[in-house]
Amino acid sequence: MSEKIYDVPAEWASRAFVDDAKYRQMYERSVKDPTGFWAEHAKRVDWIKAPTKIDNWSYAPGNISIKWFEDGVLNAAYNCIDRHLDKRGDQVAIIWEGDDPSQSRTITYRELHDEVCKFANILRNRNVGKGDRVTIYLPMIPEAAFAMLACARIGAIHSVVFAGFSPDSLAGRINDCQSKIVITADEGLRGGKKVPLKANVDAALKKCEGVDWVMVVKRTGAAIEMDDVRDFWYHEAAEVVTTECPVEHMHAEDPLFILYTSGSTGQPKGVLHTTGGYLVFASMTHQYVFDYHDGDIYWCTADVGWVTGHSYILYGPLANGATTLMFEGVPNYPSNSRFWEVIDKHKVNIFYTAPTAIRALMQGGDEPVKKTSRKSLRLLGSVGEPINPEAWEWYHRVVGEDRCPIVDTWWQTETGGILITPLPGATKLKPGSATRPFFGVVPEILDPDGNVLDGECTGNLCLARSWPGQMRTVYGDHARFEQTYFSAYKGKYFTGDGCRRDADGFYWITGRVDDVINVSGHRMGTAEVESSLVAHPKVSEAAVVGYPHDIKGQGIYAYVTLMAGEEPTEELRKELVAWVRKDIGPIASPDLIQFAPGLPKTRSGKIMRRILRKIAEDEPSALGDTSTLADPAVVDDLVEHRQNKH
Ligand code: ATP
Ligand code: MG
Repeated sequence: MSEKIYDVPAEWASRAFVDDAKYRQMYERSVKDPTGFWAEHAKRVDWIKAPTKIDNWSYAPGNISIKWFEDGVLNAAYNCIDRHLDKRGDQVAIIWEGDDPSQSRTITYRELHDEVCKFANILRNRNVGKGDRVTIYLPMIPEAAFAMLACARIGAIHSVVFAGFSPDSLAGRINDCQSKIVITADEGLRGGKKVPLKANVDAALKKCEGVDWVMVVKRTGAAIEMDDVRDFWYHEAAEVVTTECPVEHMHAEDPLFILYTSGSTGQPKGVLHTTGGYLVFASMTHQYVFDYHDGDIYWCTADVGWVTGHSYILYGPLANGATTLMFEGVPNYPSNSRFWEVIDKHKVNIFYTAPTAIRALMQGGDEPVKKTSRKSLRLLGSVGEPINPEAWEWYHRVVGEDRCPIVDTWWQTETGGILITPLPGATKLKPGSATRPFFGVVPEILDPDGNVLDGECTGNLCLARSWPGQMRTVYGDHARFEQTYFSAYKGKYFTGDGCRRDADGFYWITGRVDDVINVSGHRMGTAEVESSLVAHPKVSEAAVVGYPHDIKGQGIYAYVTLMAGEEPTEELRKELVAWVRKDIGPIASPDLIQFAPGLPKTRSGKIMRRILRKIAEDEPSALGDTSTLADPAVVDDLVEHRQNKH
């Protein structure tokens, strides 16, 4: 792990909402008097009826129940749109940047209001109302935002399915929540390639009953099949509706959306979030973590198909009256400079992306970054996986030119918003550490026997208390909710992640607990070995898993992707083993190294270690659910060249 520390730049300590002293004071209040703290911060949203009951939750076995602001009444779309109209009706709410660099569009808050109302009226006309489920299978186009906010406006529960998923994955998610309507586009466009979305929906619906309507947005104009009864065009329906649509009055605990987790560890779970707590938490974290001020241009590169897109492209920023950028494309199209060109084009101040993108761009060298200006950039963010110190340093030095703090934000679909993170004006930075808890968040590190560890320690990360953005249940399966998150440690929410706390009380996520390897009795997080490998100049990406080893119990199996142009030689293999040995110690030296042209990743770009584990264990026929993989073809190559073949 890196030993480096970056102090808060003086400019940040004075410009930010929160400096270190204020962080400490607010944090202390948030844990000593959570009711008072959250009663006060709930006021950041507009309530139709203000809540008087603030927190009411139980993690007791057999009685897991989570409620925040339960007697409050509000509407999320009203908070994201209508309440801003007086002051910022003409301000840009959404900057849309197309896959093709010549296409972009801006949408003001007033335009957003009109589009969302029309969209909501189309849904209402088709009998979609409060509590109905709506599956949204759209590319990153403004209509995805309209669709989500339209659901929120009329109290329907949206379930956004990432537009890269196959018909089977889509069908599974439509059936799981019994959607009545599916919203899609003729085709999607990503990296210059067309994705046959409507055809995928047609294929999926062969396996679904109960879908009455398919609404189709025209994106590319491709010829598609339309069912006369079931299917209709959005642009035609939009012509006959008005831009007035009264909001549904929602209780704080009425569901806002269902979202399926990425599926890194197995079958995805239908995470249910409700209205009041989620909105308070998403908007508050967005403001404080990104230090969002009026007039800032903010860009989160996630897809709306992931929770990051929900909380930090849409709900958080719009609830704060922000200008949020929505990007249809990919980081390397038409070239590796795309992100930085978009930043220059729209004068982006705050940029939030994932380690997988940073590592991929780092592989292409500094030149594609350096040829752009990026002088508008002030703050950088990371989310999704532990960020290797090597990638952190590159992001900081090359992209941010040493002037932009990096907020490494740890959270989950289940948590609704960011839980462990630096605040840019308050927290010194250590590359690879998500640093300190956000307000109201009480992390605990436990050993496998359930003892809460003190001080410097490593173990399993739990949360001792509820926070407003927490998921409320697994949709339709409350028993699975309890089993998954509350059975490992009684009375605590178990995150599934391993974590280290250092002498300064900073938190370092070490990867998933399932990924911890035990070599000759030494427990080791995979992240540490991976970071060491990635620090080697010839390595761009690495994934480490354990495999059965006669002597050590578990051996270390490393999959290594090399930088463009590097040759996978026997000599390099030896060099890498020696490198890790010197860097971490003999105990961490890889027993087997496989050079991998690509690694199996989820659609959100996370390495799927459970598949790598099976390959390392020489059980290629037991790979489990691979439907959430981005590119199933990489698996064949890995299986063929596995190093532990019997
Ligand atoms: P599934 O739960 O279906 O296996 P998933 O856990 O990948 O999928 P998400 O909710 O998208 O689904 O991801 C949350 C996980 O991502 C966290 O539990 C953690 O393992 C990892 N993660 C997210 N942000 C960070 C971060 N900043 N540092 C380290 N790990 C992170
Ligand atoms: Mg998870």
